[in-house]
Amino acid sequence: MKTRALYTGSFDPLTNGHMNIITRASKLYDELTVGIIANPSKKALFPIEEREIMIAEALSCLGNVKVDHFSGLLADFVNSHGFNVVVRGLRGATDFDYEIQMAQMNARLFNDQVETVFLMTDPQYSFLSSSMVKEVHSLGGCIDGLVPEAILKRMDEVLQKQA
Ligand code: ADP
Repeated sequence: MKTRALYTGSFDPLTNGHMNIITRASKLYDELTVGIIANPSKKALFPIEEREIMIAEALSCLGNVKVDHFSGLLADFVNSHGFNVVVRGLRGATDFDYEIQMAQMNARLFNDQVETVFLMTDPQYSFLSSSMVKEVHSLGGCIDGLVPEAILKRMDEVLQKQA
């Protein structure tokens, strides 16, 4: 059976912590979809269409990875698209406490073919989150090496426009 994995998040913006999980998961599964969660009530730095383009560009070197977006219940997206693995990244105990609850709830909602799989973050990214890079960058701090270069360039452009 082909393994079709899904890795979801807001990715506003995609960080090198996300990139690390995506690169590793792409080696484990036949196909990996990066699913951007559309949450219209959350104010985002980048509109979802732009996130989709930027992420697809950042991942263009990975042949078995594609990008999609969805809204609503994760289990509905997973069951209706025939994914059999949902990948999550774990940075530490705080992620774990939240993730185990979500995985156990999802296990009730997913069809029987689906497993949630956790990949531990590379320690160099264990402190890294999208909200942290946004905050540091907006205050003029250096985030080199924490997000893909093309994404940093777009963040610089948005910051300059706001100034
Ligand atoms: P959301 O914005 O919906 O909270 P994120 O985009 O922050 O989601 O994260 C999506 C997934 O990536 C989650 O499984 C999260 O644990 C994981 N993740 C986020 N940052 C890192 C990181 N630095 N290293 C590894 N995994 C991460």
